[in-house]
Amino acid sequence: MITFEHATVSYEDASGPALPTVDATIPEGELCLLVGPSGAGKSTLLGTVSGLVPHFTGGTLHGRVTVAGRDTRTHKPRDLADVVGTVGQDPLAHFVTDTVEDELAYGMESLGLPPGTMRRRVEETLDLLGLNELRDRPIATLSGGQQQRVAIGSVLTAHPRVLVLDEPTSALDPPAAEEVLAVLQRLVHDLGTTVLMAEHRLERVVQYADQLLLLPHPCLLYTP
Ligand code: ADP
Ligand code: MG
Repeated sequence: MITFEHATVSYEDASGPALPTVDATIPEGELCLLVGPSGAGKSTLLGTVSGLVPHFTGGTLHGRVTVAGRDTRTHKPRDLADVVGTVGQDPLAHFVTDTVEDELAYGMESLGLPPGTMRRRVEETLDLLGLNELRDRPIATLSGGQQQRVAIGSVLTAHPRVLVLDEPTSALDPPAAEEVLAVLQRLVHDLGTTVLMAEHRLERVVQYADQLLLLPHPCLLYTP
């Protein structure tokens, strides 16, 4: 579903690549965990899948990254929106509406779907993520875990086959993180969604992973 062929990213004026060369294949319906310390290139790698890198960040992508057969260098993020959904660390940064239900509907607006289809997808997503009781709530009044579930829901209404998440539990306490991870597990098992998730707290998520993609720590050279 996702392939990296000698994929590497460099930014201008940097001394080395932001993403070291990656060769990997992530099969459909698997949960792949992307692990590495801060600065290892996790967000950069996720960006090559969603198309944000290099289209929005600058820099140069060498090699090839494909999602559902589409080369992300020749497809901008909006040309990938029907296959890849992206969720970041801070859900509040992405919300554009005020209530849960509106936010779920907003995720589909650019797809030009008939109103009946949009309504059905909102209902399905509320059920899938256990958000039914929260549907009319202002997003600002929700807990961190609930907000992150809404953020995931707002990309799921577009029915992406791939979900990319950048440290989605990093701002959450352990019970809220469990809540979000349980949802991801359900997506993989029930819908066959392919999930690629960056995480630096391995112990939290390793039990859910089918594959681990490890980005090495940058070499440090000390002069005593
Ligand atoms: P991680 O998510 O693992 O912390 P990043 O992918 O954010 O790592 O960053 C990898 C490296 O690329 C870091 O050295 C970072 O400073 C650099 N970098 C990330 N984004 C940019 C950018 N837009 N321009 C220049 N350098 C960047
Ligand atoms: Mg990052």
